[in-house]
Amino acid sequence: TPLKNIRNFSIVAHIDHGKSTLADRLIQMTGGLDLREMKEQVLDSMDIERERGITIKAQTVRLKYRAQDGEDYILNLIDTPGHVDFAYEVSRSMAAVEGSLLVVDASQGVEAQTLANVYHALDANHEIVPVLNKVDLPAADVDRVKTQIEDVIGIDASDAVEISAKTGLGIDKVLEAIVTRLPAPRGELDAPLKALLVDSWYDTYLGVVVLVRIIEGVMKKGQKIRMMASGAVYELDRVAVTTPKLVEVKELGPGELGVFTASIKEVADTNVGDTITEDKKPTAQALPGFRPAQPVVFCGLFPVDASDFDELRAAMGKLRLNDASFSFEMETSAALGFGFRCGFLGLLHLEIIQERLSREFDLDLIATAPSVVYEVEMTSGETVQLHNPADLPDVMKIREIREPWIKATILTPDEYLGAILKLCQDRRGIQKNLSYVGARAMVEYELPLNEVVFDFYDRLKSISKGYASFDYQLAEHREGDLVKLSILVNAEPVDALSMLVHRSVAESRGRIMCEKLKELIPPHLFVIPIQAAIGGKIIARETVRAMRKDVTAKCYGGDATRKRKLLEKQKAGKKRMRQFGSVEIPQEAFIKALKMG
Ligand code: GDP
Ligand code: MG
Repeated sequence: TPLKNIRNFSIVAHIDHGKSTLADRLIQMTGGLDLREMKEQVLDSMDIERERGITIKAQTVRLKYRAQDGEDYILNLIDTPGHVDFAYEVSRSMAAVEGSLLVVDASQGVEAQTLANVYHALDANHEIVPVLNKVDLPAADVDRVKTQIEDVIGIDASDAVEISAKTGLGIDKVLEAIVTRLPAPRGELDAPLKALLVDSWYDTYLGVVVLVRIIEGVMKKGQKIRMMASGAVYELDRVAVTTPKLVEVKELGPGELGVFTASIKEVADTNVGDTITEDKKPTAQALPGFRPAQPVVFCGLFPVDASDFDELRAAMGKLRLNDASFSFEMETSAALGFGFRCGFLGLLHLEIIQERLSREFDLDLIATAPSVVYEVEMTSGETVQLHNPADLPDVMKIREIREPWIKATILTPDEYLGAILKLCQDRRGIQKNLSYVGARAMVEYELPLNEVVFDFYDRLKSISKGYASFDYQLAEHREGDLVKLSILVNAEPVDALSMLVHRSVAESRGRIMCEKLKELIPPHLFVIPIQAAIGGKIIARETVRAMRKDVTAKCYGGDATRKRKLLEKQKAGKKRMRQFGSVEIPQEAFIKALKMG
């Protein structure tokens, strides 16, 4: 296909604005799959992605389209993750295409992730076609949203395409807009191979599959390629395009998107953003901007049942096959035994991994409080990266502790603004800006990430009845007056519950923790003191009163089924209990205690 008949694009949108539905429609209209193969949201392949309606891994699909000008075009749609945790993957995907469809729900308008994602597209110099979706809804207000797009994003929206991805209205106009308004790719056919490694994933049958964008030259089966950052050399055993089915092709030329396999063992051997070239005829210069994704949030994961340890290790190994940004290292905890310290790109990433471990591998896990990465400067001048509050060195040897800060953008209907400002203020936020996007307020805050990792997002959603949207970017590390808060149950410190907090909130957080644990730890045969401490100083205390053992006592004899059910429930509960000295703490207590609601 000549370059002038190729168009490469991505779709950017806030979650739920209809990106996946539109992608499905485009695939359907261009016949990439027959009806039988066409199930909803074909691009979101993982179960969790489908259920949560989020896209984790970038995928791509090649569409064939005969335009109104009578010519046949190849349209490559690259699907990008819509969430901030995967910002690096988003920017790599954007670098692989020339244009974006900016999908905005015409009944909702511009949201925080609309902005974050469209800025990625603008950074990649994309031509942008605004698409107003859901015009079938009575609440759709096309003119208002066009004005919003122009005011807030600063791009012309007068030619926005009005569609309903649900009913199929206007999809033909989207296809024409892709052909007529987005630029064709450019690139030399005769130059040495230069390709961008966009993504890779592990396939049970094929092994590691690598998604590439050819910039210059040609990629074909049998060729020996070199990954420029790692220096590794591989022989290509398959070159293909995805329609989204894998279809082998003879070669991929400039401007094309495709995949290859090359007996690569692990996804970790491929670096997103790397440049791929031909081993014996390498390109003179690698593409700019390769940077490995860094974990931002850490937590400990421990099996509830110690005998599940090996199974947990195997499961994590399997997940890592497909996700090089997830890291884990063995860890031992006095309270929890053997487990792993795990690193994640962000909170959603953490949640996804935890959920997959319990769902796909049927593992019962205890997760410790998520922690950000602190920089601890020692009096000796050395700087230590602290991933686990339990490892905090002796305070006498510390000169300062620096914590990561983020720049957050929140969009909200006016009526929730007051409560949101208070939430940000309570979390040590510094307000940077407040403006209006139509009828919605847009606030920009600097916040310490450590205040956001707990339940900031849940709180934000609940005080705004789900209407506020949130997005953030990591900014820098700043010095903070941080102390280690320890929780003692029956005079024993529970290392899994220790955390670094700002001194100003230590007491209130310690108190809330004790109050919660009092509710969450079931009564035992003896009295259990629960204490919060900073260093050796107790700052809060609660007591779990003693109780009689016979749980069926309150059934007053009689109903035997009810009695049996209660006992079964108790037995099932036992499985999720963890022994601390002579005290049993339910797994749920850990999770709930760490939500600061
Ligand atoms: P994504 O998160 O951007 O991928 O959004 P989805 O494509 O998953 O769509 C989110 C929800 O909006 C789903 O329930 C869709 O059925 C619905 N939806 C998508 N497009 C339209 C549309 O044009 N009209 C209406 N009424 N609903 C739509
Ligand atoms: Mg989606």
